Order: sequence, then C-alpha cells, then structure tokens
Amino acid sequence: MRCPICGNEDTGRLSKSRYFCSNCFIEIFYSRASELQILKILEDGSTFAVAFTENN
Ligand SMILES: [Zn+2]
Repeated sequence: MRCPICGNEDTGRLSKSRYFCSNCFIEIFYSRASELQILKILEDGSTFAVAFTENN
C-alpha cells in the first residue's frame, strides 16, 4: 500500500483494510478499490477523518 499523501511505499499494515504511514502520521482506511479514507492521528491519539478520493 502506497501512501496517497506522500508516496511512501513503506506503510505499515494494521489490518486487512487499514494502513499506517509513519511519515504523515495518518491511517489509511481502504474501504473500496477506488475509495480511500484518510484518518489524521492527532497528538492526543484521536483521529480526524480527512476525505480523500483517488479519482484522477
Ligand atoms: Zn505518507
């Protein structure tokens, strides 16, 4: 899984459809083939959903 934000290919896999980019400090939730959800991880450990759709 390549990070859609920074292009880092060394993302960690959290579960079947969840990945983590340690560069951006985000979770990438891969819900559908063409639909990604980005969760920004805040300092207090909570997450903030950032809409992202890969549709070029
Ligand atoms: Zn990244």
